[in-house]
Amino acid sequence: MNVDLRIKELTEQLNQYAHAYYTLDAPLVEDAAYDYLYRELITLEDAHPNLVRADSPSHRTGDVILSGFEKYTHAYRLYSLQDAFSREEVEAFDNRVRKQVENPEYICELKIDGLSLSLVYEGGVLQTAATRGDGSIGENITEQVKRIKDVPLVLTEPIDIVVRGEAYLPRKNFQKLNQSREEEGLAAFANPRNAAAGTLRQLDTKVVAKRGLATFLYQEASPATNDTQEAVLSYLESLGLVVNEQRVFATNMTEIWAFIEKVSELRESLAYDIDGVVIKVNNLSEQDALGFTVKFPKWAIAYKFPAELAETDILSVDWTV
Ligand code: NAD
Repeated sequence: MNVDLRIKELTEQLNQYAHAYYTLDAPLVEDAAYDYLYRELITLEDAHPNLVRADSPSHRTGDVILSGFEKYTHAYRLYSLQDAFSREEVEAFDNRVRKQVENPEYICELKIDGLSLSLVYEGGVLQTAATRGDGSIGENITEQVKRIKDVPLVLTEPIDIVVRGEAYLPRKNFQKLNQSREEEGLAAFANPRNAAAGTLRQLDTKVVAKRGLATFLYQEASPATNDTQEAVLSYLESLGLVVNEQRVFATNMTEIWAFIEKVSELRESLAYDIDGVVIKVNNLSEQDALGFTVKFPKWAIAYKFPAELAETDILSVDWTV
C-alpha cells in the first residue's frame, strides 16, 4: 500500500463526509463507517507523523461555521471526546487515569446523540446560546434555542454561568417530522441528530418551536463552584436545567462495563437516541490535574456502541444513508 496516497485519500474522503455531516446536516455515510475510516487515518498518521496533511480532520473539532449565522467566540473552549470502541480501549483509559490519580471514582453518563450546545446565563437570564463550531468559535443560535421549551430563559438563581449540553430531537418528534416532510414531498432527515442540527439552523424560529427539540445539560463550563461532576449535575438541575437521570458511579472496570451492558440493553427503549456511554473522572480537581490534549479532555472517554454490522462486512457494505 502506498501510505502517502492512502492518507491523502482518507483525508479527502473524511473531510467531504464531515462537511456533509456538520455543515449540511445531510450525512453521506453512517457514523460507524466514518469512525472506521477515521480510525484507519489516525493509525496511519500515528505510524507516519511526517505524512500528516495540513487539512487532516485529526487537527480539528467539528467543522466550519455557517455564514448565515453570527459567530460567537466561546469564553471557554468546547472539546470533543476521545472514542473507545472496545472494552480494552476503556481499560486503557482507566490505566492512564490511574497513573495520575489514585483510586479514581468515575461517573458514567449516557452519550446523547444530538449536537453540542453552550448556554450563557448572566444574572440568571439566558443571554446567548451557541453551537460548538470548531470549539473556539460557534454559531450564535440564541433565538432558535429560546424556542426549545425545556431551556429555562431564567434560572432559579441570579447567577453568571456557562453550561454545556446536548440538544436533541426525541424519537417521537423525529418520526412525526419525517412523516410530514414525506407528505410535503420533502427529503426525510437521515436521523434525529441531523434533524436536530438542521432545525437549530432554521432562521425561521417558528419552525424550531414546532419541531419539539429538547435538551440535556451536563457540564458547567465556567469555573465550577462544585467539587464533583455529580454535584455539578445536581446543581444544574436545581437551577432548572434538564439533566439526564441515567448515571452511575464506578470505581473499576467491572462496574463501568456493567453499566455499558445495561445501557446497551435499554438503548432501544429510550425516548431519544444515544450513541454510547461517557465515562468521566468524578472529582473536578482530579480532572484539572489530568488536563486536556489539543482535542480531548484526558479525564473522560466516550465508549461508542458497535455498529450493527460485523467488522468483516464493513468494506463490502454500502454504508451510504
Ligand atoms: P462525538 O460525538 O464522538 O463526541 C463528543 C460529543 O459528545 C460532545 O461534543 C458532546 O456534544 C457529546 N455528548 C453527548 N453526551 C455527552 C455527555 N453526557 N457528556 C459529554 N459529552 C456528551 O464527537 P464529535 O467530535 O462531536 O463528532 C464525531 C463523531 O461525529 C464521529 O465519531 C462520527 O460518528 C460523527 N461524524 C459522522 C460523519 C458522517 O459522515 N456520518 C461525519 C463526521 C462526524
